[in-house]
Amino acid sequence: MSPVTETDEHKALRSAVAALGKRYGRAYLTKAVAEGGHPDELWAEAGKLGYLGVNLPEEYGGGGGGIAELSIVLEELGAAGCPLLMLVVSPAICGTVIARFGTEEQKRAWLPGLSDGTRTMAFGITEPDAGSNSHRITTTARRDGTDWVLNGRKVFISGVDIADATLIVGRTEDARTGSLKPCLFIVPRDAEGFGRRQIDMELSSAEKQFELTLDEVRLPADALVGDEDAGLLQLFAGLNPERVMTAAFAIGMGRYALSRAVEYARERTVWKAPIGAHQAIAHPLAQAHIELELARLMMQKAAYLYDEGDDIGAGEAANMAKYAAGEACVRAVDQAVHTLGGNGLTREFGLASLITAARVSRIAPVSREMILNYVSHQTLGLPKSY
Ligand SMILES: Cc1cc2nc3c(=O)[nH]c(=O)nc-3n(C[C@H](O)[C@H](O)[C@H](O)COP(=O)(O)OP(=O)(O)OC[C@H]3O[C@@H](n4cnc5c(N)ncnc54)[C@H](O)[C@@H]3O)c2cc1C
Repeated sequence: MSPVTETDEHKALRSAVAALGKRYGRAYLTKAVAEGGHPDELWAEAGKLGYLGVNLPEEYGGGGGGIAELSIVLEELGAAGCPLLMLVVSPAICGTVIARFGTEEQKRAWLPGLSDGTRTMAFGITEPDAGSNSHRITTTARRDGTDWVLNGRKVFISGVDIADATLIVGRTEDARTGSLKPCLFIVPRDAEGFGRRQIDMELSSAEKQFELTLDEVRLPADALVGDEDAGLLQLFAGLNPERVMTAAFAIGMGRYALSRAVEYARERTVWKAPIGAHQAIAHPLAQAHIELELARLMMQKAAYLYDEGDDIGAGEAANMAKYAAGEACVRAVDQAVHTLGGNGLTREFGLASLITAARVSRIAPVSREMILNYVSHQTLGLPKSY
């Protein structure tokens, strides 16, 4: 696939997922959230149709595609108003890391379930004290015989209640040098000592965020994914897809909001012409469309580089795509709400809650400022202030 134009297969996938999204739509998700439930029916159907594991290897039940295909799935569900946030973590981060670095047993144990959606996995790296500086994480894994024992805290981890396990990023204590290295562990939801407290978020979302405590959580040797000495490389193999998928989430949401606003602006007439005829309404909507399209182009480049195996090139592009998509989403949602006037703030039209939701893509999984820092230092070679 070239990142500029889509193949016929990608177009077909896009329209098939869009059709599925349309059958469920915004009302379905809004009802699930209001009832404190989850979009289980949509998740199950998308799983049966092969969309959830489209990026995972065919021999383990996946579709044999890449992040390019999975990002199409998330973007189109989002554009239909019913995004599945767990796609960002379960198949994109956890599935990718296990497929690339897991043992044969781990692959057989997890990938078929992650592919058809019958199993899900959350991902936990953020810690209360480390925040954006993930080099400061202190969740520690110590060896005890062949077991691992984990201690630490995590915060803002999505979907831990519905996930069968959480892929936890910790550090091993290196007995020889005393230095610490990042390592990935599969922690089952009900592991002894693995506590969770739901964070009260001002966010209308089916997937909840949790503060986690790991208090002497004992895990067998095979809970470690990959090589304990190659932690950073393995971690970034999962974090680049996460950035691409967050871009897809943001672009889908931005498209959804924009399409509601355009429909409204075509019909709503308070003087002689529909409000969409006023350039003060039309131009910002056109601008939002252009910015979303530009962000998608960068997202496609990042996905292309990642799927080609260029982890370094994908790192820069995925960061820039996440930045562009987050900003485009925030602006598109803001303009959409404004276009609807008072109706922009009603529950009936359901756009105002997207103002908060859109901000997530500006903050997570890496904030706008940290991407600007990355581009300043890595791309432009400017000196560091911190
Ligand atoms: C809805 C939601 C879901 C999430 N889901 C997950 C999940 O599933 N798993 C997971 O691991 N994490 C998750 N997160 C956490 C998310 O990745 C973090 O919130 C994010 O990385 C920012 O960290 P922080 O909140 O600690 O902010 P901080 O690091 O405290 O930053 C606060 C502010 O300071 C700015 N700042 C910090 N350092 C600098 C600097 N050097 N230069 C300039 N500005 C700086 C930041 O840009 C930000 O604006 C989620 C967060 C949200 C909101």
